[in-house]
Amino acid sequence: MKSGKQRRAEIKAARVARVAAGEARAYIDPRFTVYAGGAPCDPSRLAPDNSYGVPDFVTRGSYVDVCFRCVDCGAEGVWTAERQKWWYEVAKGGVWTRANRCRECRANKRAQREASRAAYCEGMLRKLARMAQ
Ligand SMILES: [Zn+2]
Repeated sequence: MKSGKQRRAEIKAARVARVAAGEARAYIDPRFTVYAGGAPCDPSRLAPDNSYGVPDFVTRGSYVDVCFRCVDCGAEGVWTAERQKWWYEVAKGGVWTRANRCRECRANKRAQREASRAAYCEGMLRKLARMAQ
């Protein structure tokens, strides 16, 4: 059994160690830290964003594989670091957006969108043709 004084000393030592660890973390430049399986992040290539927040991949300096569950079919998937890099830096996707559909459901969604757009355009063309008469 430890005395209160011993226990307080232990708590204080643990606190000092935590603070020291936090300071040590702060000195690691996230821009040069690439996690295993990650892809480096280039913040200058991200789409402009008016948020005051900083996405975690910018803080970390790299993209890491993340798991997600498809909102349509519920299947689990992995959004790889390379795909994230492409999405945010090449396709200029919003920095707060995430993967939420699996490949098949994304294709289904796209086909649905294209079909409804085609139906709309077809209807507009019919309407314009009637108006031109
Ligand atoms: Zn799905």
